[in-house]
Amino acid sequence: MLLRKESTASLQKANFSLCINTLLDGGVVALPTETVYGLACLALDPDAVAKVYRLKGRPSSNPLIVHVPNLEQAMEISYPDTICKLLCRKFWPGPLTLIIPKKNVVPDNVTAGLETVAIRSPSHPLFRKVLQSTGKPLAAPSANPYSTVSPTSAEEVVNSFGNTCPPVLDGGKCEIGLESTVLDLTCETPAILRPGPISRTDVEKVIGRKLADPTETFKSGISRKSPGLSAKHYAPETPLRLYPNIKLLLKHAPSSSENLIIIPSKEFLPSLDSCSATVMTFSENGDSMEIGRNLYSTLKKADLSKKKTIHLPMLEETDGMSEAINDRLRRASCS
Ligand code: AMP
Ligand code: MG
Repeated sequence: MLLRKESTASLQKANFSLCINTLLDGGVVALPTETVYGLACLALDPDAVAKVYRLKGRPSSNPLIVHVPNLEQAMEISYPDTICKLLCRKFWPGPLTLIIPKKNVVPDNVTAGLETVAIRSPSHPLFRKVLQSTGKPLAAPSANPYSTVSPTSAEEVVNSFGNTCPPVLDGGKCEIGLESTVLDLTCETPAILRPGPISRTDVEKVIGRKLADPTETFKSGISRKSPGLSAKHYAPETPLRLYPNIKLLLKHAPSSSENLIIIPSKEFLPSLDSCSATVMTFSENGDSMEIGRNLYSTLKKADLSKKKTIHLPMLEETDGMSEAINDRLRRASCS
């Protein structure tokens, strides 16, 4: 379904072919993926890629992820090694982005001048249908202005771009809601550059060896290795105050009405009965997949209420998803 800013009525009007034609003409469209909505263009067309950077206001030093339907197309634009092929067979289509050496056909502006390229095969049926119809790899960073909260619905894409919104193919709410895991396969020991839905242990089990220690990855200069993964990102406009855990939040978060508190699950609501702050929840029962799915839309709603501060806790890290959520919360609250 195609959606433009002017009218939500057009949400109902399917126009898949306009979207395909726009892409093939070197234009930009917003598409749903299972992680977040992406701002897509032909990855091998540097002019189309430049439009994506301009529209997002993204610095040219921040490389884009290239989306392919399968390993075969990945091999046309990059050099996957045995480990990479193993991971593709296990996790594709899905939320795993692999950094591998690029072929010359990939324009410099896609990779911000790096000799490596980030590749992923999304599982969302609409995105896959677009990949199939264009027959070409698509670059697609998240469909939001640079450094703001990523969109997980077509409406959020429209709201974040306003008058400059490109056509949006509406695929409903994103099933995962959090960006893909980014795994660098170009160093001696593979390293996670961005935690995501596919966890460290998921990857280690498949490749049969340990990944680089995350603290070492950061110490060794992640900003050089992955220019876009800056400390501050995904931030709403309202300042966020992050607490190490829910207990400390319930004890110390101010209860006055100019504050907004977000709790991971409804089970903590009774503890906030007498509080005048606005209270929101990320999930019914604290399930990390549900929290991930609702994370960005809840932060956006919280932002709209224009309170002085949003207070929220880090999650207990019980799985890859909760680790990825904490990563985003840390970056969203970084000042
Ligand atoms: P986004 O497109 O917003 O999901 O972000 C994708 C992230 O992947 C970027 O911020 C980059 O830091 C990272 N990335 C993309 N390409 C490369 C690459 N060739 N080497 C290292 N990191 C990359
Ligand atoms: Mg992004």
